[in-house]
Amino acid sequence: MARPFDLDALFRALTTLPGVGPRNGKLFEKLIGGPKVLDLLFHLPVDFIDRRFSPKVSDAPAGRIATMELTVIEHLPNPRRNLPYRVKARDESGVITLTFFHANKDWIQKQLPDREKVIVSGKVEFYQGNPQMVHPDIAKPEERETLETIEPIYPLTAGLTNKTVRKAMHGALGFVQKLPEWLDESYKTKHQWADWHKAIEQVHTPESEKELYPESPVRQRLAYDELLANQLTLSLVRHRQRRINGRSFEGDGSLRGPFRENLPFELTGAQERALNDINTDMAEPARMLRLLQGDVGSGKTVVAALAMLNAVETGAQAALMAPTEILARQHAETLRPMLDALGVHHVTLTGRDKGKTRETLLQQIRSGAAQVIIGTHAIFQDTIEFSDLGLAVIDEQHRFGVHQRLSLSSKGRGTDVLVMTATPIPRTLTLTAYGDMDVSRLDEKPPGRKPVETLLIPNEKIDSMIDGLERKIKDGARVYWVCPLVEESEVLDLAAAEERFDILRYRFGKVGLVHGRMKPQEKDEVMQRFASGELDMLVATTVIEVGVNVPEATIMVIEHAERFGLSQLHQLRGRVGRGGDQSYCFLAYSGPLGETAKERLSVMRETEDGFLIAEKDLKLRGGGDILGVKQSGLPQFKLADLSVHGELLAAARDDARLIIEKDPDLESERGQALTTLLYLFERDQAIQYLRSG
Ligand code: ADP
Ligand code: MG
Repeated sequence: MARPFDLDALFRALTTLPGVGPRNGKLFEKLIGGPKVLDLLFHLPVDFIDRRFSPKVSDAPAGRIATMELTVIEHLPNPRRNLPYRVKARDESGVITLTFFHANKDWIQKQLPDREKVIVSGKVEFYQGNPQMVHPDIAKPEERETLETIEPIYPLTAGLTNKTVRKAMHGALGFVQKLPEWLDESYKTKHQWADWHKAIEQVHTPESEKELYPESPVRQRLAYDELLANQLTLSLVRHRQRRINGRSFEGDGSLRGPFRENLPFELTGAQERALNDINTDMAEPARMLRLLQGDVGSGKTVVAALAMLNAVETGAQAALMAPTEILARQHAETLRPMLDALGVHHVTLTGRDKGKTRETLLQQIRSGAAQVIIGTHAIFQDTIEFSDLGLAVIDEQHRFGVHQRLSLSSKGRGTDVLVMTATPIPRTLTLTAYGDMDVSRLDEKPPGRKPVETLLIPNEKIDSMIDGLERKIKDGARVYWVCPLVEESEVLDLAAAEERFDILRYRFGKVGLVHGRMKPQEKDEVMQRFASGELDMLVATTVIEVGVNVPEATIMVIEHAERFGLSQLHQLRGRVGRGGDQSYCFLAYSGPLGETAKERLSVMRETEDGFLIAEKDLKLRGGGDILGVKQSGLPQFKLADLSVHGELLAAARDDARLIIEKDPDLESERGQALTTLLYLFERDQAIQYLRSG
């Protein structure tokens, strides 16, 4: 199934566009996140200059965008840096002030030469009774012909002007043609959505403020397309996985019975419900594809262990895959005593195992001697053969994509899959990442946990907090100290962490440091010393985010907490409050705080409910701050903004499900059009599936 010819022009290199050469081509690519014409078309305007209204100065009403031809009459540079630079200009009806804050003097003088004519556009405001325009757009009178009456304004990057982007965009729009309609006609009519090619044209020619809103019909349509492509991909993957016949696993309880009796606690209601879901799925002949979602410390491991024992009881193998070495080892540590007590043979395999050890492990996995296999993604490499893999549990923590989830399905005959995720994701986001995987939520904490007391402290008070820590440590407390993310640079993050480490070690002595650049073995060793109590304090960059369990640790200090996203803060805080003792979380911040940072920190102080925090996080971030999303590993969207388009996502999910039910190979007319949609959003993986049938 080759890419439809209709799309060829859209997949051309940007450099085929007017004004885009090899040099600024790189800038374009950086700006729009891709090398082709289509990527530019998906770069949407954020504003526009409306030059349709051109009153005389004396008639210009407040609050409206106006375009006027004026003569510059006087420059009034700012005497002090924090005052604006003003320029007076006039037409035959009156004088208006053009105001610039923090602007470069030379630039202003070049743009607005004394006594010359200029065309300015901007919003008219009145200041002390006189009309003014702040930061107007400026053009020369000889440009009048080429000035667009409405000029869309695009997000830019240093080195690219709006003019250059517009020019290229003109060229790109020339490549847009009618494509076969992939939307359901009645759904499209109901929303009064335009054809795709019209929608793309319109989104780049906004005529009113409203058209810039993500709720505008045109932007909704484009967002829906993107979400539909996402959901269709996930549906195809699911359908595909289901097609491979599953098996029914129904153990006799011979292992689970004693396992449960040995547990020092009762399972929570949520754990029981999740297990019920899992047991039912596993008993069914269809393959299980279930997501177990639960906050840090909600007790997913026990649930996973019981699911694995179910498979083992039937004579099959079970595997548990963790995203990092540390976590794999930790899972192994937790499960070892329980599995040993039951006489279940288990092995741990990570990338660190080499040579002979590795050969022995592989042999045990191949022969079936190893009943439970715990490890990193190393256990799903091509070279690893299982005797009979019945269940794969993936402790995902957002670090694996759909892709990894699939590679393991080829490892066994109808292997059931249970994905665990520790980050509570808002429902909308769950859909984008997991499509219609079945979901069990552990929304109830094991009993007996005291809420973590969360305190905000300004940076200046860190020293007196450290004094307080000294007393706590004397009383036997163990402390995590998380250093700030300085930049997106590991080296700089490390420098900051090392500096803090030196200070704290000097003060407290038994302090360890872990960071992302350490070898896994070194990291484990330090963590181990902290877990065993040999160290009182663990200074870390965010590596501890990924789920170590030290119930004795009761204090978490997060430096520059204002730089972390809500979900990240929540994850970090989840490291404490795991035992019976009162725990504390200190969020050290340096002010002044922006509105969002302020709100984030106060949310942290008010609640520990991960699902609530996740919803807040999505709202606070909006579509704008992609950084957090990037870190979470969730899919990113160019056109859809999930804080606004959540309902469209749900609709796309239902749509996709119906499509795949009726036309799993996308052979109908609409199905063909949908293939075009998949190509448009480069869902290569989904297309691969269609190809291989
Ligand atoms: P998660 O993997 O969801 O972060 P864990 O499975 O590591 O959580 O559980 C956290 C801690 O809570 C562990 O020490 C575990 O033994 C304990 N635990 C799990 N379930 C219960 C329960 N029902 N009652 C009491 N403690 C529990
Ligand atoms: Mg766990």
